[in-house]
Amino acid sequence: MTADRTISELFASKRTLRSLEFFPPKDETGVEALRQTATALKRITPDFVSVTYGAGGSTRERTAQVSRLLREEIGFTVMPHLTCVGHNRAELESVADQLHAGGYRNIMTLRGDPPKGQTEFVPDQDGLRYGRDLVALLKARHPDFCLGVGGYPEKHPEAPSLEADLDHLKAKVDAGAAFITTQLFFDNAVYYRFVGQCRARGIAVPIVPGIMPVLSLKQIRRFTDMCGATLPGKLIRRLEAAGETPEIVETIGIEWALTQIRDLVERGAPGYHLYIMNRAKSALTLAAGLAA
Ligand SMILES: Cc1cc2nc3c(=O)[nH]c(=O)nc-3n(C[C@H](O)[C@H](O)[C@H](O)COP(=O)(O)OP(=O)(O)OC[C@H]3O[C@@H](n4cnc5c(N)ncnc54)[C@H](O)[C@@H]3O)c2cc1C
Repeated sequence: MTADRTISELFASKRTLRSLEFFPPKDETGVEALRQTATALKRITPDFVSVTYGAGGSTRERTAQVSRLLREEIGFTVMPHLTCVGHNRAELESVADQLHAGGYRNIMTLRGDPPKGQTEFVPDQDGLRYGRDLVALLKARHPDFCLGVGGYPEKHPEAPSLEADLDHLKAKVDAGAAFITTQLFFDNAVYYRFVGQCRARGIAVPIVPGIMPVLSLKQIRRFTDMCGATLPGKLIRRLEAAGETPEIVETIGIEWALTQIRDLVERGAPGYHLYIMNRAKSALTLAAGLAA
C-alpha cells in the first residue's frame, strides 16, 4: 500500500491548507450519504480530510471503513483520529500497526472524550492517561507518523488554568506532535491570542484554526457548552433573529465562517480545518466564496 504524504510535507509546500472533518455515520445508509457528500467535495480538492474516532466498537469500525472509503475510493489524503478511550497499550499499538500497514501516515492523536453517560475520563487498565502519552506511543512505534494534536484557545474545560493547559500542550508537541488543530472558535482574536501564547511558550509547530459553520443555534449551543468555546453576542443575535428557518441560519453560519477564514488566510494562518458535520453545502459555498 503506497504511503501517504505527511501533512508536514504539505505545510512545507503550500501556503494555506484546507482540510475537512467527517464523523463515522451510524449505519450503512449514513455511509452511502457520506460517499455522496465526499464525491461532491472532490471538486474543492481538500488537502486532507480527517475522520473522528468514537468511544464504541461499532463506531470505531466505521472510522476504519470510512477512512478506507475516503482514501481508496475518493482519493483523499486521510487522517484518521485515534483516542486512548477504552484501549490498552497493546490494542493501541495494534491499531497503529494496522494504520501504518494501510499506508496512513497522518493521525490526529487525542485522549478522547469519555463514553456517553460518563463525565470523567478513566484510563483503561494498562491504558494511557493523556494525549501526550499516545503521541509518545505512536512515535515510538512508527517514527514516520505525522501526528496532529488538539489545542484549546479558550482552555480545555478540565484544565485548572490556561497556563497549565498550555504547558500540557507543549508536552504533547515535545513528545513528537507535528501540528496542532484548534477546537472551534468564533472570534479570531481568540485564535491570534492563543497562537501568541503558544509561541511565547516555545511551541513552534503550525497551529491550524478549526472552524465550524453554524447549522443550527440549538446544535451550536450544545457544542459550545461541551467544549467551552464562546459564542459572540453578535452571532447569537443574528441566529436568534433567523428563528426556525434553517436556510437563513445556514446562510448566517456560512457568512460568519467566511469572514473568519478570509481574515485567517490574510493574516497567514497555515490552513483551516472545517468541521463540516458530514455536509457538503457549507464547504462548497465557502470554497466558492473564497475563490470569488
Ligand atoms: C481537533 C480535535 C479533534 C478531536 N477529535 C476527537 C475524536 O475524534 N474523538 C474524540 O473522542 N474526541 C475528539 N476531540 C475531543 C478531545 O478528545 C477532548 O477535547 C478531550 O477531552 C481531550 O483530548 P486531548 O487529546 O486534547 O487531551 P489531553 O491533551 O490529554 O488533555 C486533556 C486534559 O488533561 C490535561 N492534561 C494533559 N496533560 C496533563 C498532565 N501531564 N498532568 C495534568 N493534566 C494534564 C489538559 O490540560 C486537559 O485539561 C477532538 C478535539 C479536537 C480539538
